[in-house]
Amino acid sequence: MSSTKMYILVGVVVALILVFYKRNSNPTGSFRTPQKPFPDEWKKILFQEVDFYKALPSFEKRRFEKRVHIFLLNVKITGVRTTVDHTDRILIAAGGVIPLFGFEKWHYMNLKEVLLYPDSFEIPGSTKQAKGLVGWGAMKGKMMLSKKALRYGYTDQTDQKNVVIHEFIHILDMQDGKTDGVLAKIMKDVDLSPWLHIIQSEMYKIHTDNSTIRDYGKENNAEFLAVVSEYFFESPEELKTEHPALFSALDSIFNPPRSMRSRRNW
Ligand SMILES: [Zn+2]
Repeated sequence: MSSTKMYILVGVVVALILVFYKRNSNPTGSFRTPQKPFPDEWKKILFQEVDFYKALPSFEKRRFEKRVHIFLLNVKITGVRTTVDHTDRILIAAGGVIPLFGFEKWHYMNLKEVLLYPDSFEIPGSTKQAKGLVGWGAMKGKMMLSKKALRYGYTDQTDQKNVVIHEFIHILDMQDGKTDGVLAKIMKDVDLSPWLHIIQSEMYKIHTDNSTIRDYGKENNAEFLAVVSEYFFESPEELKTEHPALFSALDSIFNPPRSMRSRRNW
């Protein structure tokens, strides 16, 4: 073998080793993973505050805790004119974990920080107030939340309202580049057209006052998805009875644990 060929061969082997190393050395990208056990204090908060967690069998509880832990290691939570305690942090993380719990590996890679306000806050660039918002432009990668609304979302976990779940659904919706009520990266192509049909017919029912879905769901497709997802995770049995086709579509998208399917109102 000539020395030129030898150099090329060595070069190719080194390149292959580098590619292999890069692919396997850090499979979660820049994501930090827990190096310490999940704190007992956090477990206690989950048990006291989060019905979804409470209904899980033990081994699923451990999986939920790990997801909460990973979330908290990778997403900064900052109080704006308010303090942030362990309960706030756990409730925010739980709201992010619940919609993704049916997926084996999925993280909010496009979320870097949650800003917690004491109550409703002004939407940037407007005079309107909001209780929850996913940032855009200079606020990209940030979620803004009202602490009061966060806590309220967990006081009644069957009232079809949870602002954190709502905002995390918007983040999921944005993963394909469009906030349009279609989770294109998660749904199968074959399900897309039936899903748009379901949105249309369910929105019509809201318009004609013939629906148990709250009015805000008729705002646009993105709000529809966020509103019905809150409904799905808080009152699955009622949604199944009142809107069976919608329930079945959401059930297949989110693939929630059996504990949720088998318990009425958790
Ligand atoms: Zn919304």
